[in-house]
Amino acid sequence: MELNTRAVHVFNEPFPAGSWPLSVPLVQSSAFAFDSAAELADAMAGPDGRYVYSRRGNPTVRALEQTLAGLEGGAGAIAFASGMGAISGVLLALLRPGDRVVAQRCLYGGTHAVLSDLAERYGIEVVRISGDDPAELEAAAVHPATRLLVLETIANPTGQVPDLPGLLAVARAAGVMSLVDNSLASPVLCRPLELGADVVVHSTTKYLSGHSDVLGGAAVFADDELRRRVWPRTVELGACADPFAAWLTLRGIPTLPLRMREHCANAVSLAAALAERAEVRGDVTAVHYPWLASHPSRENARKVLSGGGGLLSFELAGGREAGRAFVERVRLAKLALSLGGVETLVTHPASTSHRELDGAALEAAGIGPGLVRMSVGIEDVADLWSDIERALEQALA
Ligand SMILES: *Cc1c(COP(=O)(O)O)cnc(C)c1O
Repeated sequence: MELNTRAVHVFNEPFPAGSWPLSVPLVQSSAFAFDSAAELADAMAGPDGRYVYSRRGNPTVRALEQTLAGLEGGAGAIAFASGMGAISGVLLALLRPGDRVVAQRCLYGGTHAVLSDLAERYGIEVVRISGDDPAELEAAAVHPATRLLVLETIANPTGQVPDLPGLLAVARAAGVMSLVDNSLASPVLCRPLELGADVVVHSTTKYLSGHSDVLGGAAVFADDELRRRVWPRTVELGACADPFAAWLTLRGIPTLPLRMREHCANAVSLAAALAERAEVRGDVTAVHYPWLASHPSRENARKVLSGGGGLLSFELAGGREAGRAFVERVRLAKLALSLGGVETLVTHPASTSHRELDGAALEAAGIGPGLVRMSVGIEDVADLWSDIERALEQALA
């Protein structure tokens, strides 16, 4: 079945009563009772038996896991309390001291922080690559300690799209496992497991849930053996998904394909309007959106994605002051750190998330002082453009 059909028909376990609810039941129970001690002991043997205790498994959480595995084309999934829970959980489960990780240079800040911590405190070597050239990985991966490749489908805020098929083929040939953070693309735009990745991670907080009302994360595995190997470590970590959070995420998924279509259509149209303004007026100096012909990742984007996604960024001529002024002048768009929800959000990294960095460090991260990041929502695009134009006039006055 096509993805939009699979998104609507989420996994729903058989209901014992002969008719069953259309929505997945919310089983808000921490534990499950048994008639016999032997049955309880049996159920504790692995991830897929009867439900015992909700840190180990829960019907609502399992419905989310099965649904995500279905959407990504994976053999199985584990749901987590947040995207960082999923990323930390998988890294801790797969890596040992002395291992080497090869990671894309431009990664989500939290992932970057965990990898730096693992390097400093656990003796795991982290080698950085641009992600644009498989030959770079070939050089870095030829080492017996290389265990894992870490990539993102669409990196933030530059919109970089690495050469996934090329890099994943090199990793596979070298016997190196690969993990791809697919939060910004969602399974609607890209399914990295189909391109050869071993594990896909998500911040389901973003597009999958889509309504800015829940935190969550997930790891989806190409091979069920790997899921069963990671699962006991995640039970120890305890960053498990809460049933209500899983339920809210499931509530968002049927409309994911529709929402992604609108996010992409609005973002491509705003990116084009901003690029035109950059040409005509010069007060916007650059627009970063992977679907634009001017973006350095345009070829990779067309190869691995079915749309440019909902995240774009642009630089204002007035630098730091203008960037800060812009995010305070928009009215329809809100100044908030998250992304992937139905509403449009803006941030100014140089004065918020990246305020500790000086000019050179900002430049190395691909962030200009006047860069504004926009998570484009599903509002009417004309209303968004009026809001942007008015805020630009005021910020650059
Ligand atoms: C937000 C985000 C995360 C972290 O997810 P949380 O749900 O906030 O823990 C990881 N990766 C990417 C790409 C993200 O955008």
